[in-house]
Amino acid sequence: MTGLVIVGHGTRSAAGVDQFAALVERVRRRGDVGDVEGGFIELSRPPLTDAVGALVARGHRALVALPLVLTAAGHGKGDIPAAMAREQERHPGLSYRYGRPLGPHPLLHDALEERIDAALAGAVQADTVDRAGTWVALIGRGSTDPDANAEVAKVARLLWEGRGYAGVEPGFVSLASPSVPAVLERLRRLGARRIVVAPYFLFAGVLPDRIVAQSAEFAAAHPDLDVRVAEVIGDCDALADLVRERYAEALGGDIRMNCDTCAYRVLMPGFADKVGRPQRPHDHPDDPVGHHHHHGHDHGHAHDHGSVAVVGGGPGPDDLITVRGKALLDAADVVVVDRLAPQGLLAGLRPDVLVVDAAKVPRGPSMAQEAINAALVSHARAGRRVVRLKGGDPYVFGRGHEEVQACTAAGVPVTVVPGVSSAIAAPALAGVPVTHRGVAHDVTVVSGHLPPGHPDSLVDWAALARARGTVVLLMAVDTIAKIASVLIEHGRAPETPVLAVQDAGQADQRSVPARLDEIGAVATREDIRPPAVFVLGPVVALSTTGPTV
Ligand code: SAH
Repeated sequence: MTGLVIVGHGTRSAAGVDQFAALVERVRRRGDVGDVEGGFIELSRPPLTDAVGALVARGHRALVALPLVLTAAGHGKGDIPAAMAREQERHPGLSYRYGRPLGPHPLLHDALEERIDAALAGAVQADTVDRAGTWVALIGRGSTDPDANAEVAKVARLLWEGRGYAGVEPGFVSLASPSVPAVLERLRRLGARRIVVAPYFLFAGVLPDRIVAQSAEFAAAHPDLDVRVAEVIGDCDALADLVRERYAEALGGDIRMNCDTCAYRVLMPGFADKVGRPQRPHDHPDDPVGHHHHHGHDHGHAHDHGSVAVVGGGPGPDDLITVRGKALLDAADVVVVDRLAPQGLLAGLRPDVLVVDAAKVPRGPSMAQEAINAALVSHARAGRRVVRLKGGDPYVFGRGHEEVQACTAAGVPVTVVPGVSSAIAAPALAGVPVTHRGVAHDVTVVSGHLPPGHPDSLVDWAALARARGTVVLLMAVDTIAKIASVLIEHGRAPETPVLAVQDAGQADQRSVPARLDEIGAVATREDIRPPAVFVLGPVVALSTTGPTV
């Protein structure tokens, strides 16, 4: 069954977070919507990325993402889709169907009615259900989106229809009018004696608390009025029913958003600035841009702050990165990481950091570098601090300079942080100094990627054979036999000691010694696998660990 991720807005209220979690659990317990996770786009844990990550880890590649919002405003229309887009970048191949906001819906109206009745309990004589003497102030969140506010008005009307209340008037606790005191005053002037303030809210939070406080203040100023506040809708079966309905609707592909009155599509008086405006996320843990842009300035120039740092991560252990590299990593919004980069450092990143696995960048191997370059440039242009985390040193067979050139060509500020190269570190970690006074006064680092004789090879193997110092071969596991025989052919002594060092710095590091004329066979027999370096020359005989030839 298609997995469901329930996406919440987030709240500073612990009770609100608990209610959200309880609802997710209720939906999960019912077992009729497949695999369920819930996450928040801002303020609360777990963040959306953990919820999606958990579903992806359990094998889901297609999801339903259901925004757990009552009305379609900024979060439902912009922020949640933007956060999901980021999840798709994080998990290439992930697709999702986007569910419709919850309201207005009869299930919600019924739930509101129950909350209002509960608030009325004890207000009326046992045998007289005096709804005709009760006015309701239905209080929505309030939005800068007129359609969202209109929906609260619609719910107020629908709640009134047929239920016998004296009247139901909409009001808003933030961003829109009438405010809570204003709507209460309006009802008072209409002659209300008893008012139930019904928060049109899913869960507890700062704004529902404010509704309670403002209502209490109004009541204190008007002792002749009976003012009560109903509970929020909260975790309940009706809400779980509605989640299931929205899930089925998303799967069925029949999602009828009301676009006719959407300010992003049609010109509404006073909202001309919204028409066609691109949706940008803000202020939530999955939004690396917003995270650093709370100072209220226009997102339009956010790209001024974007940058790329091409960071050498060292040979693998977490603590062989430079202090500068680590500092940049800690401040990053996006980390584009290679397979040989120190993976352990990723666990220490803030949960909101977007980690892009460069090995999994789509479009096939030949395009991979271009796709990586494009990703670096586009994230930086979006205002993000990008760290390109590489193994070893970025400029030692790391294609680091291609990325620097791409950034420079795109006008994106770019910096390079050198790293501890495996070329030097792997021999060292295996006890071999690549130079030693009186033994070797030169060290040559060579790519074995192309075998000797390959038309594209730029290596003068004959010259290397004649030199007497140290040679370190990278990317040579497949070519070592051929390289060794060419070196011997051109004059290196067959008994020159060689050390193969595999997985240097890792728990399973191992080194295998051999003579130059035997290293090809030994490497095969010992099943040497990448990543490994071969170090050869008289320094190998100095090794402080393990046997040498
Ligand atoms: N920029 C990197 C090298 C990239 S080329 C650096 O400076 O280290 C990749 C090659 O590096 C591998 O094929 C292997 O030869 C070597 N390498 C990288 N990490 C290694 C490790 N932990 N142990 C042994 N060899 C490693």
